[in-house]
Amino acid sequence: MILKNKKIGVVGLARSGVAVAKYAVRRGAKVTVTDLKSKTELGAWLKLLSDQKKIKYELGNHPLKKLLNSDLLVISPGVPFSLPLIQEAIKKQIPVMSEIEFAARYIRKPMVAITGTNGKTTTTMMIGELLSQAGFKTFVGGNIGNPLTQWLLDSKPYDVAVTEISSFQLELVEKFHPKVSLILNVTPDHLDRHGSMENYWMLKGRIFQNQTSTDVLILNADDEWAVKYASHTKSKVLYFSRSPLSPKQEGMYIQDGNLVLRTKAFGKETYVTSSILLKGQHNLENFMAAILVAKVFKCPKGSIQKVLDSFQPVAHRLEFVRSKGNVEFYNDSKATNIYSVRMSLESFEKPVILIMGGKKSEAPFETLRPLVQSRVKILICLGESKEIISRALGDYSETFVVGTLEEAIFVAYQKSRAGDVILFSPGCKSFDMFKDYEDRGNRFKEMVREI
Ligand code: ADP
Repeated sequence: MILKNKKIGVVGLARSGVAVAKYAVRRGAKVTVTDLKSKTELGAWLKLLSDQKKIKYELGNHPLKKLLNSDLLVISPGVPFSLPLIQEAIKKQIPVMSEIEFAARYIRKPMVAITGTNGKTTTTMMIGELLSQAGFKTFVGGNIGNPLTQWLLDSKPYDVAVTEISSFQLELVEKFHPKVSLILNVTPDHLDRHGSMENYWMLKGRIFQNQTSTDVLILNADDEWAVKYASHTKSKVLYFSRSPLSPKQEGMYIQDGNLVLRTKAFGKETYVTSSILLKGQHNLENFMAAILVAKVFKCPKGSIQKVLDSFQPVAHRLEFVRSKGNVEFYNDSKATNIYSVRMSLESFEKPVILIMGGKKSEAPFETLRPLVQSRVKILICLGESKEIISRALGDYSETFVVGTLEEAIFVAYQKSRAGDVILFSPGCKSFDMFKDYEDRGNRFKEMVREI
């Protein structure tokens, strides 16, 4: 794709927008950046472009007339597909692509693409470490704060790109072609944006739409929506599962607590889990998926086991904060939907004091009832959704509705006994009281450390 002298509109200026604008300018394009936010709100991002004299800015609105004379629009991940500018551009047959698609057009090395409702970041980081440990110069990015376009800006001889991809980015892919695609799970989330479960499923499936028989698709055999992709792909399919695979399926499964690989190419290999630092069966799923990717790249068993034994929990994902008076505190602020809360609760044998709640949500919280009944000793509800959660789950344990996170921590600690776990797993988005899930998790950790 030739960029020289082309008019490129960059829609949405955050990390990806900055990277795309820089790269397009470098390739001689005439770049216009547009964002609904004002110059003041975008201050920090604009600063990153301050040395790029040639860029034009249309901030605070998207003036259709000016932007619809672009040769190409590149869309940042947070920008809704329904935006009138995008819809108009499509009508006028102006090429519109996501940042991932844009970057991928210039990458000639193999790409690994990871999607799913939950576990993307953790698994992406695992794959990054597995490949690096085996000697690959690995770029890790995508949806995790390092846009794929950064590959193009770095002058490093990368061997492979490991990219986390959200369903939002998949809305605007066309030729994106990973060598290995991985779909961890497909459970209802973001249905407000994607409409139906079928639509969400279809969108996630775009990750492998350009793959051929020499590529690999890795699927969760235990996930009813994910397995359905197997009959819609030309790729070789590998599976992971919590229980032994059927004789026809190749991949990984859990047996006697260890991870067993069984494929035609590599025979049978067993990976021991006794030294793993991450809690929960869901993290064994993430490891199996990541190991399958590593095996596609022929990583040796010894180097894989080394990563398994040393991989640290990713911040805000079931992250151990401290222990005080034999009460353990865990920060799981990234649990923004009920499916991740479920996985987190299942990870503890000890009695749990659960702090939940955040932005108002229509999620079926009542589906957590059996787990709350069996594992939660005290439930503390917080945020816009506190009443909804307390109504859905409050009958099964002693329940408190509180006003602030500080109060939640105070009540939790007051009520705890030696041997308990205090788990902050909100099950809701954070924007009612915090900037984002990181801000929320950091505040939790600070307060807990101050006790
Ligand atoms: P994502 O990038 O998809 O949001 P993360 O790795 O950031 O995924 O984890 C988000 C939340 O989901 C955390 O609470 C984490 O403990 C939980 N989680 C991680 N892996 C899985 C999985 N395989 N299935 C379900 N929940 C998971």
